[in-house]
Amino acid sequence: MRDFLSHRARIEPDGEALVIAGSGDGYTFGNLDTLVDDLAGRLAAAGVEPGDHLGAVLRSRLEYVCLIHAAMRLGATLVPMGDGLTARELAGQIDAADVTSVVCGEDTEAAVIDAVSRIEGAEAGADDSDEPAADAEADTDPERESEFEFAPDSEPITVLAVDDPSTERAVALSETPAEEVTPAEWALDGTQLILFTSGTTGDPKAVRLTVENLLASAVASVFRLGFDPTDRWLVTLSLHHMGGIAPVLRMPLYGMAVVLRESFAAGPAVDDIDRYDVTATSLVPTMLDRMLDRRGTLPESLRVVLLGGAPASAELIERCQAYSVPVHPTYGMTETASQIATARPREAFAAPDSVGRPLLFTEVTVVDEAGASLPPGEPGEIVVDAPTVTPGYYGNAAATEDAFGPFGFHTGDVGVRDEDGSLTVLNRLDDRIVSGGENVDPGEVVEVLRGHSDVADAAVVGVPDAEWGERVSALVVGAGEGDPDRADLLDFARERLAAYKIPKTVAFADALPRTVSGTIDRAAVRDRLSRDDDGRAPAG
Ligand code: ATP
Ligand code: MG
Repeated sequence: MRDFLSHRARIEPDGEALVIAGSGDGYTFGNLDTLVDDLAGRLAAAGVEPGDHLGAVLRSRLEYVCLIHAAMRLGATLVPMGDGLTARELAGQIDAADVTSVVCGEDTEAAVIDAVSRIEGAEAGADDSDEPAADAEADTDPERESEFEFAPDSEPITVLAVDDPSTERAVALSETPAEEVTPAEWALDGTQLILFTSGTTGDPKAVRLTVENLLASAVASVFRLGFDPTDRWLVTLSLHHMGGIAPVLRMPLYGMAVVLRESFAAGPAVDDIDRYDVTATSLVPTMLDRMLDRRGTLPESLRVVLLGGAPASAELIERCQAYSVPVHPTYGMTETASQIATARPREAFAAPDSVGRPLLFTEVTVVDEAGASLPPGEPGEIVVDAPTVTPGYYGNAAATEDAFGPFGFHTGDVGVRDEDGSLTVLNRLDDRIVSGGENVDPGEVVEVLRGHSDVADAAVVGVPDAEWGERVSALVVGAGEGDPDRADLLDFARERLAAYKIPKTVAFADALPRTVSGTIDRAAVRDRLSRDDDGRAPAG
């Protein structure tokens, strides 16, 4: 298997590949192929070799799209990392994924240099110091960078070697003829990407994704969403998350175009759909919510709104139905190269909680705590067996071993299947609250609170408590002006829930804290609720 773009550029050089939202600059597969060839050559000249782990800390611009395909052309494993991480977080990821060089932009370079110097510093310290301090300094010397502007409209980017002093040189690569690169041959089990999870439950984990994982995901997705070679897919999610990078990888496979927006804002996203006749986009629920707030409906050119990353409220799905938004609620994760199950609009409108049936070749089993398979209707952990499932976490055999059982990959999510195989995701296994020895499903409490007319949204977590072990606690967002009435809300809950499930702490907020992927940041909710004692309600 050669890189995806080289195939497409040969068969359809004039096909539309990329539109940069804002400037409106467009690139055909042929244009993009030339740029990628050039970039791959420059990276090779800067010392990047097949098999290297090539880090990327870039904003969503032309250079990043080229880099994704250039890494594949070179035979290097791409390791996308967040452009908003601190130097300490970046150092952790560079180290965890054994990244040898990092490509960064002008705006991310300082953080990357800082991160790399931390890694070098730590190693020099551990090494016990016959290395003089001057050497450590040389490691972060800007002279080690190779900086170049590879396309007329691109921002300058820099290649920084992490720990090989032999690459220490100052090369103005734009004046150096690019090395010629023979497109690498990939085996299906080659690791094309190492992608970090969002870090909702702990530190982000480094997930290996093979060529086969990504191809299987592209194929299964298009069988569910339908194929249209004239598709234009608006990408506003960051490219270091599965939902952002997936359409960029699939663009040459499907022969569709990507419309790339550097960062999300509700108004411009709706305008982009209009202006560029966008037919498909991937969003997390908070994004779609804000877009609908802004415009009520979305332009008619859309045929697919892939909605995932976090649970979508029934209210949001109902709004989509009212406005004829072609919403496809989906459940997926980094470890499965994105989608596991996806519902079509009609299915979503009929069953707003459901994420539909599993994709082609994806087997879903729901298991109990002992790992035994459960029948439809009974909630348990969702386990996935599919060609999209990662071979494991990079450099973490223990976590990999923990994650796999007889039925496949354990997602850590709790769900239930109905008789015809549709899946509903309830919550995460880690989210279960044990209060006074009783198991409380926070999802059930959230559903009840949301059912109150004064409540727009709610998060329910367990807060450590001397008496109860964990105390059921709720952070509530009001639907109107001012906070809902606490006593009234608790009465409402008492009519619908057993005493041990009633929140012992209720606090109010204007919005729920969320991670970049749109999932509720439960650590922040817990933090807020353990600090906030004025919200304390009478016990059960
Ligand atoms: P970490 O694994 O580091 O804790 P994360 O699981 O949030 O972070 P991702 O791989 O980006 O990292 O997110 C996948 C998770 O998002 C799923 O395991 C699931 O919990 C949640 N999720 C995705 N889609 C949905 C959905 N439609 N409904 C409910 N939860 C969803
Ligand atoms: Mg996860």
